[in-house]
Amino acid sequence: RAKSQQRAGHFYFSRSMGVEIRERVRMMHALRTAFGQNQLFVVYQPQIDLATRRPMGAEALLRWQTPDGKFISPDRFIPIAEYSGLIIELGEWVMRTACRELVDLRAAGHHDFMMSINVSQVQFRHPHFLDMLRKALEDTGAPPQNIELEITESMAMEEPDMLIKMLAQIKQTGVSIAIDDFGTGFSSLSYLQRLQIDRLKIDRAFVTEITGSARGSSIAEMVIQLGRNLGLAVIAEGVEDERQAQILQSLGCPLAQGFLFARPMTATALNSWLSNDALEGAA
Ligand code: C2E
Ligand code: MG
Ligand code: MG
Ligand code: MG
Repeated sequence: RAKSQQRAGHFYFSRSMGVEIRERVRMMHALRTAFGQNQLFVVYQPQIDLATRRPMGAEALLRWQTPDGKFISPDRFIPIAEYSGLIIELGEWVMRTACRELVDLRAAGHHDFMMSINVSQVQFRHPHFLDMLRKALEDTGAPPQNIELEITESMAMEEPDMLIKMLAQIKQTGVSIAIDDFGTGFSSLSYLQRLQIDRLKIDRAFVTEITGSARGSSIAEMVIQLGRNLGLAVIAEGVEDERQAQILQSLGCPLAQGFLFARPMTATALNSWLSNDALEGAA
């Protein structure tokens, strides 16, 4: 039976699907090689207190630069890493790299700095995820209370009971949890209330809409209100201009991240960016 299904499947297999799969397999191999050859690195995008304009933390974001200088977007290669399973190793490496960077920043005097790390649902579902997390914290000496894991809202929608249990266990390590790209899914209020989360990240799409039509700010407004009602922190992502920042602040959003304040940067650049900022603040 499996055989006939296979044959039937093969029969309907279109040429474009073949191209797509070949391209995916090619990327899979390229990504694995790139990881082995240190073509991947982590950059950090500052997160800003809207009222004081001071940096409070940063989000770790993965980058892939090929030897000919081309950048491949994580939106393209993360799904490939998930599909191939490489995300397990890759995600662990990002976790440990970001933890180490946090330790370095603290040593440089930035004691309250927070580090946000994206976690793929494939990583999250892996049976050793908790062990991996605990070990990364232990080996690097990164303080869990300064670490935040970002999971996406779509992830929060599947398998509610599994997620509720996992989040509770993660919270026991001391790290906090944010829901990324919030507003794009359809989590119900009652469900959100059952999750041990700390923060909602307003998706860039809703930040962009803020300055558009009259009703453009309604979703951002709703998320900020929701955060207030549930006692969750809120951060807006993708803030690109001053008007957006000001509207967000007037709506009661305390934190933001976006090109207006800083682009993602290397660890070295972040270190000097933070020192310059500290000097400015003191002057
Ligand atoms: P995300 O976690 O929602 O990250 C925010 C994305 O918005 C980043 O894109 C960031 O560079 C971009 N961004 C920040 N501010 C602005 C802005 O003002 N304007 C615009 N247009 N974009 C802005 P990036 O780095 O390309 O990452 C894309 C996505 O790839 C991330 O979305 C995340 O889902 C995934 N990703 C990146 N690094 C990792 C990682 O280490 N692990 C996992 N699992 N996923 C990752
Ligand atoms: Mg994120
Ligand atoms: Mg996001
Ligand atoms: Mg995203």
